[in-house]
Amino acid sequence: MEKYIIANWKMNPDDLVKAKSLLASVEIGLTDNDKKVVICPPVIFLRDLRQIVNKCQLGAQNAYFEKQGAFTGEISVGMLKDAGCDYVILGHSERRQYFGEADGAVNKKVLAVLASGMRPVVCLGEQERQAENIGEILKKQLTTILSGVAKQKLKEVVLVYEPIWAISTTPNSQPCLPDDALTVYLFLRKMLIQTYGQGAADKISILYGGSVGAKNAADYIQISQFNGFLVGSASLKSEEFIKIVKI
Ligand code: PEP
Repeated sequence: MEKYIIANWKMNPDDLVKAKSLLASVEIGLTDNDKKVVICPPVIFLRDLRQIVNKCQLGAQNAYFEKQGAFTGEISVGMLKDAGCDYVILGHSERRQYFGEADGAVNKKVLAVLASGMRPVVCLGEQERQAENIGEILKKQLTTILSGVAKQKLKEVVLVYEPIWAISTTPNSQPCLPDDALTVYLFLRKMLIQTYGQGAADKISILYGGSVGAKNAADYIQISQFNGFLVGSASLKSEEFIKIVKI
């Protein structure tokens, strides 16, 4: 499976000049070998960043599954591809919390993104720490969001485990212990193997997201075995983000 570091800039920074400057300062610290660094800025900045991006790839933070039509405020997968995107984050917890997105809609988006040739970066994770039924919650999410994904397409999906209670902007957020994250990593891998078979399941990248910084990144890679990260707050600080990529 591939290794990725994916930056979710969310609704930041607040203007194009700052967005260009942030991208430039990240790229200064990268080498040509850091190929799987994906920057997901606000969609309005995509076309301008495409003009200056050099070492990173670009992604969006959401997409709509219909091709075109009367869907006010939405942006289709085809439009994102046309704007220079290779990846689309789907099912992020903030989309679920503030915009009412459920697993069924996320699934339609996953299928649309795969059909376009881009790669979906699909988030799942439990709301509360020490949820008793975490296995059931994750199994249900995984089954629904990947429903209808053909076995040969699985390698194009990037899965992200994001325990919502560990995301830095969640009130009273707490770090997820690397050993606990390992348990979930192994659980997700096992579920994928059961559903798709070892060969196909081994090709899917499973990333971790939730308060990742330069101080804890090594633990989530070495102890928890994840294949990279989805990084929120720390992706807005170029020096720290570059350190995470190097780790
Ligand atoms: C996120 O919201 O996807 C995320 C990982 O945020 P942070 O790194 O700030 O916890």
